[in-house]
Amino acid sequence: MDNRLQEFEKGHKAFQRIKFKQSKERFKKLVDEGQNPKALFIGCSDSRVMPAMITGSKPGDLFIVRNIGNFVAPYKPDADYHATASAIEYAVSILEVSDIIVCGHSHCGAIESLHKNIEATSENIHTVKWLELGKEAKKVALLAYGNADKETLLRYTEKISVVYQLDNLLTYPAVKKRVEEGTLYLHGWHYHMEDGDIEYYDDDNYEFKPLSQNSEG
Ligand SMILES: [Zn+2]
Repeated sequence: MDNRLQEFEKGHKAFQRIKFKQSKERFKKLVDEGQNPKALFIGCSDSRVMPAMITGSKPGDLFIVRNIGNFVAPYKPDADYHATASAIEYAVSILEVSDIIVCGHSHCGAIESLHKNIEATSENIHTVKWLELGKEAKKVALLAYGNADKETLLRYTEKISVVYQLDNLLTYPAVKKRVEEGTLYLHGWHYHMEDGDIEYYDDDNYEFKPLSQNSEG
């Protein structure tokens, strides 16, 4: 075998030797009893965002779907293939999670590209279409921070986009029903990767607030 994936193979070996052994009972229980995750986590595909790591989750805790920009396309029951919608349906109606977290992050390439005018080609056509899910966020961000410096504009776009994705979640009948029943809670988060902090959206005050104060300062 060539050694293209040597690092991953080494990592897997270490996983088998240490982490898997430590969690063997947990994995066995999850196999025997099936999964019963608390939350659906909708995050960005960005390799620097690690849902389990930043939430201290263990196997079985989070049902995760990741896509470019952590977008949620509105409910659209047609003949197309909808990966994120399918994950939402499964999490909400079959697994009956009690919480959905939409987690954006700082330095999100998807959000940054909203502010560039990218022309569709045969090599990016799905992405250009997908990025339309951020256009409301971009519009509002430009109104609020169009004259601010680039980083301020981008951080705001990342955050306000999360709020729009929460709105889109409510277009799913199963989500809306359970939210209205009080059995499902929606959360908007923004992960700041340079300091490891998460902010949550406080919908009473329309602002993002620290999820926890980092005692290290
Ligand atoms: Zn991203």
